[in-house]
Amino acid sequence: MSVAERAAWLRSEIARHDRLYYVEAHPVIEDAEYDSLWSELEALEREHPELITPDSPTQRVSGEPLEGFAKVRHDPPMRSLDKTYDRGELNQFDSFLHQQLPGETWDYVVEPKVDGVSISLLYRKGHFVRAATRGNGEIGDDVTANVRTIRSIPLSIPCEAELVEIRGEIYMTREGFAALNRLEDEAGREPFANPRNAAAGSLKLLDPREVARRPLDAVLYASGSLQGVSFDTHTEMMRTFKQWGFKTPPWLRLCLDMSQVMEALDELELQRHAFEFEMDGAVIKVNQRRLYAKLGSTAHAPRSARAYKYAPERAQTKLLGITVQVGRTGVLTPVAELVPVSLAGSVIARATLHNADMIHEKDIRVNDTVIISKHGDVIPAVDGVVHELRPAGTVPFQMPSVCPVCGGETMRLEGEVATRCINPECPAQRVGHLELFVSRNALDIAAIGGKMAEALVQSGLVIQPLDLFHLDCQKLATFRLIAEDGSERRFGKKAQDVQRALVRARTLPLHRWLFALGIPGIGETAARILAAPFKTFSELKTTHLFHEVTLFYDAVGRRAEDIPNKEQFAGEIVYRATALAHRGLVLRDDPARPIRDRFLLTIKPEMARTMIRFLASIYATHVFERLEALGINPVSEAPQESGTALTGKTFVLTGTLSRPRESIEAFIRAQGGVIQNSVSKKTAYLVVGENPGGTKYAKAQALSIPQLTEAQLLSMISENNHPTELNPEKVTESVTTPTATKTESKQYIQDDFLGDFV
Ligand code: AMP
Ligand code: ZN
Repeated sequence: MSVAERAAWLRSEIARHDRLYYVEAHPVIEDAEYDSLWSELEALEREHPELITPDSPTQRVSGEPLEGFAKVRHDPPMRSLDKTYDRGELNQFDSFLHQQLPGETWDYVVEPKVDGVSISLLYRKGHFVRAATRGNGEIGDDVTANVRTIRSIPLSIPCEAELVEIRGEIYMTREGFAALNRLEDEAGREPFANPRNAAAGSLKLLDPREVARRPLDAVLYASGSLQGVSFDTHTEMMRTFKQWGFKTPPWLRLCLDMSQVMEALDELELQRHAFEFEMDGAVIKVNQRRLYAKLGSTAHAPRSARAYKYAPERAQTKLLGITVQVGRTGVLTPVAELVPVSLAGSVIARATLHNADMIHEKDIRVNDTVIISKHGDVIPAVDGVVHELRPAGTVPFQMPSVCPVCGGETMRLEGEVATRCINPECPAQRVGHLELFVSRNALDIAAIGGKMAEALVQSGLVIQPLDLFHLDCQKLATFRLIAEDGSERRFGKKAQDVQRALVRARTLPLHRWLFALGIPGIGETAARILAAPFKTFSELKTTHLFHEVTLFYDAVGRRAEDIPNKEQFAGEIVYRATALAHRGLVLRDDPARPIRDRFLLTIKPEMARTMIRFLASIYATHVFERLEALGINPVSEAPQESGTALTGKTFVLTGTLSRPRESIEAFIRAQGGVIQNSVSKKTAYLVVGENPGGTKYAKAQALSIPQLTEAQLLSMISENNHPTELNPEKVTESVTTPTATKTESKQYIQDDFLGDFV
């Protein structure tokens, strides 16, 4: 056998065993044997790269992370299905078909409706060439590299047809989903709400290597474009797909009439928890494919099939009590303690009540008889109360005003439904806090991921995240850490990684530190916004900007959401602040003041209030002291762009403007623009007010120099809404000596600066 033949044989053997293992769940060789096939093929391909074929199993995970997904046009479009919860409507569907297809006979197929993500797989002459998501039905994303990692999808099929487009669903198994969520949770990330979201999220990852680790699978039950192959019936097509090595619906009934369809629906309902995927209903299809074209489709769905959704499963039981759990992020979650009841294949004794609002809305009280259900989601929920069964003497639920774990203050952040324990030193949050601190977008101390954070806290080595900086590397390496489940761990060599990461952490930019501090309500995005106006941490600590933000919103009497055109509004503010600065009415002894104003609107009032509260807290004082002692003073990341839309451009003003000429000139200069007194070839724009001067105007026209109204001038800045740092010297030029004290400044802001804004 030649090397090429051997490689081909290995490939087909691996493909055969993959199919036996991943599709048929019936492996016939030991793992070790399978592994040796793999290593042999890998070795051959390493020596003879020219032998690598695109459908070699070694190519399932290959290539670099993608930049984004290319677009793919679906022909025919990938349609949805018309759905019903009502069996009567299914009978109407049957009557409709009879009316549309006089003289025809057909039967139906009933299949589970897989709750995943629609996918289209393209094979050319038997080779897998492309996978695409449904997208909007007409155009989807090319996710070939990601789908190639799914082992139950064959990379080649025994079909020489020119083009075969196979459609179906990518899903995450329930088990795989539970395992993934455990990992997400351990890594301190938000778990996925349900397997479908997890599958969709996985397919959208840009790094196929990451996708390969996600437990994805696929079931195929439809065709798209077919050239060189055809099927008479759906059942025949399913048989063929299976022979080609695809997973097809694991449950399928051929029904001769509607009464058999109804029986099949009953039977399938009993199976709804038996599948490894989540089933969100049944699909009823005409089996005879030649009728599909006759029936056609609506813009939304084919007329030859219907989805039937089962009512969510429910159970009735008694609410014994409501306990309140404190999550790793401090969120207080009320949990229903129930008389155990069986639902959807498992015994339920606890269910989430989500939050206080929900409890009040549904008026759920201890000792009530409640209805619980499992929807698509895994966690059962309390849907409502059987009011007729309410005993005397029940009282409405009240969320505890102190944290059940630490006794600390709780509060609801603006715009959130959750009540949180805001004590940053709450024991319930220690692990969560440390996890956040070391997480990738915070200080990125990867060696402390997963169970290590928990072990460090459990062992008492780290109470507050900053304790990390006091750990001795040698000690850390040998220290035996006991996790919650009793298991023992050691850092060993990883202690050095921790040490290195800590050294690096000292130099990470301000916004990462701000995020790492775990201030309730300040996520990654908020941290970026809040850090942007400051050069250093010390500057942020002593700022008055947050007060100004709240004052500003108080003054305009509006919430951030109520300002429809923020960009325009921001432009206006910069304008005025700059104009004021020019008149000597500077609010603070800070030359960067006019720039700062631009941040006034990027910072939401609730963020500002959170920061004010945080900065005033004992915890913050504590943290600042420690950071100072550690010599850590994070600095802002260098601004991405320098300058604004006006930078370096030359402007000439004419006519009467809404403000004194000087103030508008100052505004332009503050934005980096240059003012000229007369129009020349170098002039970039002529800013035109009312009754413009004839000469400038005429000259600008002659030289085809673009003209701007004042509003257009403002929008040049406001559209450039990415806050940018200006050259401070330039600004200083236009600002005269500050005179006002802080209290006066505030006064001024309210009375004049913002007076005619509203
Ligand atoms: P929906 O996404 O809820 O609008 O429902 C329509 C989708 O159900 C189709 O586009 C398919 O992706 C999906 N589906 C799941 N299982 C099946 C099945 N057995 N037959 C046809 N479509 C299915
Ligand atoms: Zn607490």
